[in-house]
Amino acid sequence: MVVKIDYHSNSEIIEWQWASDNKLMLYPYWTSCYLVDGLLIDSGAPGGEKDLREFVRSLPPNKMIDTCFITHTHEDHAGGAHLLNTEFGIPIYAGEKAIEILKRGRTYPDYRQMAWGTKLLPVNAKITKGPLITKSKKYTFDLFPMAGHAPELITLIEKQQQWAFVADAVQPKYKMIFGGKSDIPEDISLIYQSLQSLYNFTEGMDQLLIFSAGNGVLHGRDFLIKKMNEIQELHSKVHEKYKELRRSGYSEKQIVRKILKRVFRKESFIGQMTRGALSKTNLIISLINWQID
Ligand SMILES: [Zn+2]
Repeated sequence: MVVKIDYHSNSEIIEWQWASDNKLMLYPYWTSCYLVDGLLIDSGAPGGEKDLREFVRSLPPNKMIDTCFITHTHEDHAGGAHLLNTEFGIPIYAGEKAIEILKRGRTYPDYRQMAWGTKLLPVNAKITKGPLITKSKKYTFDLFPMAGHAPELITLIEKQQQWAFVADAVQPKYKMIFGGKSDIPEDISLIYQSLQSLYNFTEGMDQLLIFSAGNGVLHGRDFLIKKMNEIQELHSKVHEKYKELRRSGYSEKQIVRKILKRVFRKESFIGQMTRGALSKTNLIISLINWQID
């Protein structure tokens, strides 16, 4: 397994990154969690348990984890919660919609097991609605829902510091693989709305730092504008082609296939490997379903 540790904002934030070294993977998929004044945001993947244990044990007394917040229930974010709770007695917090899923645990297809480890073990998380105040009362995090990537996804915003911990809610690129009719039902219109709300919520934060999961730190509100423009452009391109192909009498299925070829050139390797579960095709369908009056 591969572990990387990065420090941000004068080492106030420790980023613990983890990827599987499974030989069947073409390249590593990274996930990360962030430790800020005793609050751990997300918990890595089930396959990273051993490494997470080592990380927790290696922390000096002033950096110990006293609380963990899970942004959403995907296995690469909630995977270490069971270990943190049962072995270290660390209380796990999550938004209301995540609680039931976390209680049940989850299994998932083998292509995801390759990247993240075999299964998500159940954990009893506590619901939190209000702001999260860290151990030394230094930081206060607002809970900010950002649906679209996952319905239950909640990001954490520290207004004074201008920090946004967004997990998978903000992606560096949107011409990408996308969840469809599976346990990862993504919705591009909700992703767009979430970016817009985050942009509005962070008004006046000229030094905004956006901490992503596995894609490093993204800088500034302008980045959010760039992403919204990117999605809008993709949306109009897809709808333009859609109308044209509809007029020519193609079926919905044929239209999706033709848009894939014309706008995205071809399906990604992951799209093929997952038989469409995580694919560009799903993004096209979600873009088509997104009607703007
Ligand atoms: Zn996710």
